[in-house]
Amino acid sequence: MSDRLQAIIDRQRAFDAARGWNAYDQELSEEEFVKALHYTTVNMLGELGEFANEVKKSHREGSLRISELREELTDTFIYLLKLSLLLDMDLNAEHEKKVAKNEIRFAHHKKTK
Ligand SMILES: [Mg+2]
Repeated sequence: MSDRLQAIIDRQRAFDAARGWNAYDQELSEEEFVKALHYTTVNMLGELGEFANEVKKSHREGSLRISELREELTDTFIYLLKLSLLLDMDLNAEHEKKVAKNEIRFAHHKKTK
């Protein structure tokens, strides 16, 4: 795990633990686990919806709402992080595996120069 990603995870974990929002650090039954997965996924998609709404406003108003876009994308990222903790993932390792897989899958899309 990269130091920066680990620092982000540690910061989020401390924030959540102080509020009892750290289901990912607790022993959960399968039913509780699925419930936490459901709750976190729905919230992540809610935040992604808020991001999409900011994109819509930027388009409609013809001016970029950069600060709002960044905030909503960060909200989405926080829930994505919490999902990765629930699934006990090493995000660095999983990302590396996926990029290696995509290198093969999309090899024919590689620029020649
Ligand atoms: Mg939000």
